[in-house]
Amino acid sequence: MKEITCKLLVIGAGPGGYACAIRAGQLGIDTVIVERRRPGGTCLTVGCIPSKALIHVAESFQSVRKMAEGKGMFGIKVQTPDIDLGAAIDWKDGIVGRLSGGVTGLLQRARVKILHGTARFRDGKTVEVETETGMQMVRAEAVVIATGSEPVALPSLPFGGPVISSTEALALREVPRRLVVVGGGYIGLELGTAFAKLGTEVTVVEATRQLLPQYDEELVKPVMARLDRLGIRVMLGASAEGLAPDGAGIVVRTDKDKQTLAADRILVTVGRRPSIDGWGIEELDLDRAGRFIRIDDRCRTSMRGVFAIGDVTGEPMLAHRAMAQGEMVAEIVSGAKRVWDKRCIPAVCFTDPQIVSAGLSPAEAQAQGLDVKVARFPFAANGRALTTGEEEGFVRIVARADNHLVLGLQAVGAEISELSAAFALSIEMGARLEDIAGTIHAHPTRSEAFQEAAFKALGHALHI
Ligand code: FAD
Ligand code: NAD
Repeated sequence: MKEITCKLLVIGAGPGGYACAIRAGQLGIDTVIVERRRPGGTCLTVGCIPSKALIHVAESFQSVRKMAEGKGMFGIKVQTPDIDLGAAIDWKDGIVGRLSGGVTGLLQRARVKILHGTARFRDGKTVEVETETGMQMVRAEAVVIATGSEPVALPSLPFGGPVISSTEALALREVPRRLVVVGGGYIGLELGTAFAKLGTEVTVVEATRQLLPQYDEELVKPVMARLDRLGIRVMLGASAEGLAPDGAGIVVRTDKDKQTLAADRILVTVGRRPSIDGWGIEELDLDRAGRFIRIDDRCRTSMRGVFAIGDVTGEPMLAHRAMAQGEMVAEIVSGAKRVWDKRCIPAVCFTDPQIVSAGLSPAEAQAQGLDVKVARFPFAANGRALTTGEEEGFVRIVARADNHLVLGLQAVGAEISELSAAFALSIEMGARLEDIAGTIHAHPTRSEAFQEAAFKALGHALHI
């Protein structure tokens, strides 16, 4: 067996692992990264990027379809459009290929050694990797577990046949006629909406009483209204009991009754679990937080010299959190004194309309006993929103009543994912309402609604 020794071994080349390895390489740390599939991880290969590509295709198709049906308001006339989902998936795969190749290039430029294969722990500092050219042993001073997450399966609806996870949904080459989505969270709603726009008849089955339980009702309401307009059926407080006896649908139980929903595909999106099974990690006896690996504010696990980052450490399971943790851990390994001191992790849900949140919601601030000012500015009063024909939603600002420190920023509306940068920066920099109100925001942009929300919280909105 060949042997390598290094200072840092990173297991998993998703956003957490590759960011950690690149930064470590830049810092001159002798680094090895092991990846069993393609560099880029869930996010790049079967998550963030492919789903946003599919959402873009679906939105483009739907807007052309609306024009063809004479429902568009811009006076554009087109013949009946058609969709070749296979061609769209090929385009998406091309983007994934480019980005995955890009990650490999960045790792190489940072002089990180890449091993292709599945890592298996021998002990806390030694890992075996089964590569194409044989078994390789890697001994390291520090190890970072960045192995990510996998879709949770329901015992009553195991994956296989018509029952699919997001990974298979993002590779379908034909638009399904009827889709039942089990789980109305991030993935279920992002992909359910996309398929509805591609022409699929979609039903969402959600166990709780609210879709997207991560966000408050006020933010989710415009999304609910759009689902309704898209003809998506939403069943709340409903649970899937299993495949229908003929296999052509599923049996769903609600408070009132039990019904069979016909479906060609059943997309199960009820959360994700850490990827930690079957490769020796269970023998390391690391402390757990539920099913996930427990970490402290430096991403240290209960074993000295073993760090964990990203989805394997639990919620929020977001790519940008994993990357920030990876960058921090690389610096810690280089000897820097770093701790997790972020004021917020912004979150964006790419539904229609989109939802953005950074920092505290009004209810979260009040639950902390804080006296807050809350102001909302609607996109219906924003010139840019009107020029795109998408005027639903608002920006909401939450600030301390005494010194006007901004505690939270949320928005729901079309194309507002890009506001997440301004929101997170404001909170990270400790902005006050006066800082946002006093910053010139370019016209005409949706970001003016952000400035107006600050004006409104100060009692003098200009455009409402
Ligand atoms: P991962 O990206 O899961 O990477 C882990 C890597 O480790 C994988 O490549 C895996 O093959 C490898 N690995 C595992 N075990 C081993 C082993 N034993 N040996 C070698 N390699 C191993 N997040 C967002 O922020 N924005 C979004 O828009 C978004 N959209 C999403 C859409 C979908 C459909 C899904 C499924 C997820 C989405 N996410 C999104 C979540 C995001 O993908 C994850 O938070 C992110 O990928 C986590 O990064 P990670 O590095 O922790 O793990
Ligand atoms: P999720 O936690 O967002 O949603 C799961 C939903 O399934 C919840 O609403 C839950 O109440 C429901 N549910 C659970 N068990 C159920 C059952 N038996 N029957 C019906 N409903 C049930 O999980 P997800 O959508 O699978 O996404 C996984 C993770 O991926 C998320 O935590 C998120 O962090 C990440 N993600 C992020 C983005 C983004 O940032 N835009 C996009 C996609 C995924």
